Amino acid sequence: MNFAELELDQVILEAVDALGYEKPTVIQSLAIPPALEGKDILASAATGTGKTAAFVLPAVQHLLDFPRHKASNGVRILVLSPTRELAEQTYKVVKKIAEFTELSTAIITGGINYGKHKEISNGSVDILVATPGRLLEYIDNETFDCRDIEWLVLDEADRMLDMGFGAMMERISDEAFNRKQTLLFSATLASAGVTRFARTVLKDPVELNAQSPRREKAKIHQWIHLADDKSHKMSLLMHWLNQDDVTKTVVFVKTRERVNELSGQLTSLGIECCWLQGEMPQDKRQKAIKAFISGYKKVLVATDVAARGLDVADVSHVINFDMPRTADVYLHRIGRTGRAGKKGTAISLVEAHDMLVTAKIERFVGEKLPRRVVEGLAPKNKEAKIPLKKPKNKTRKLVRKKQQVKRQKKLKK
Ligand code: AMP
Repeated sequence: MNFAELELDQVILEAVDALGYEKPTVIQSLAIPPALEGKDILASAATGTGKTAAFVLPAVQHLLDFPRHKASNGVRILVLSPTRELAEQTYKVVKKIAEFTELSTAIITGGINYGKHKEISNGSVDILVATPGRLLEYIDNETFDCRDIEWLVLDEADRMLDMGFGAMMERISDEAFNRKQTLLFSATLASAGVTRFARTVLKDPVELNAQSPRREKAKIHQWIHLADDKSHKMSLLMHWLNQDDVTKTVVFVKTRERVNELSGQLTSLGIECCWLQGEMPQDKRQKAIKAFISGYKKVLVATDVAARGLDVADVSHVINFDMPRTADVYLHRIGRTGRAGKKGTAISLVEAHDMLVTAKIERFVGEKLPRRVVEGLAPKNKEAKIPLKKPKNKTRKLVRKKQQVKRQKKLKK
């Protein structure tokens, strides 16, 4: 399929051309036709699949097909993003796709001066990209009106739920009660939270699966190194960062403190790196991301929260210095590499206490991750065995028995 077959306007096709997209990605060819037919969409598409254009392209087409009524001047398409970074990246795509149209676009996120957003509520913005927290502030103090919203797009809805934005999304969805369509994108639809939430905001949606974890895995070369402790992980990390083909790497750690610690250690070992952490001022974040994108710094150390939405086209490696807590986050992390059809590598450094989540990840991707050993850096310890869970009813019986004994003791007293 090519873009022309999707019946997009010439001004959109020109923008697509300028972006260098030759043909639609899977999620784009799946999502654009039903979106233009007026259907609600529930799509599973991780970052890197072209999901942003999958909703921006039909959104712009919708606005061209149905010009604004003279009486209305509110936002017509609202895109909610979990983080500032993702909102900014999405906004860039929106601007590029709407470049040759007369449509007006805007962005609202936290960390920005309130005054800057004033013009948004005054002017007639067609497409707004926003993070839920700041937008809700404006809704609550009545400087933002949702009545003209026709499309509500919930991007990375799973992340927003993980970040505790569920109630905010529901509020915004209720405020946008006049809308005609809702499009929900999530890295996975496997989570019960997402499907439950989807039922509350979507009406009879078309369900789309752009990629299964297995397909994602196919273009990302993954393996794990068993590690004895933190210093062993450090040696393994240094080994990989010193390889010639490791050109642009995101190193994931579990906490903000760990970001500071590891980036300090890497710098002292002569590895030029930049870092992202949750509570960094906006200008510093931008600077770090720029240094990484431009290749000025080839290593980025980050937590999951800080790296959400990070869209860098040519990340060669993702290294899990600390393992994530869930399989879902693992998939999200490794999706930073192997983007837009390029090859990528994901290396995980696994300590004994990470074996449980590793097993979960393996179940999720449907395969055992290969164990690799670097010469001279073999682990001293054997692979840790995962403790088997007791069957639930057995546990319940045990609890009941204990309670019985307790009661009997009490009675005897
Ligand atoms: P996304 O999943 O929206 O974060 O997009 C991932 C990357 O794919 C971005 O760098 C996009 O610019 C790129 N991209 C999106 N659509 C296409 C396309 N049809 N052809 C080539 N690259 C694309």
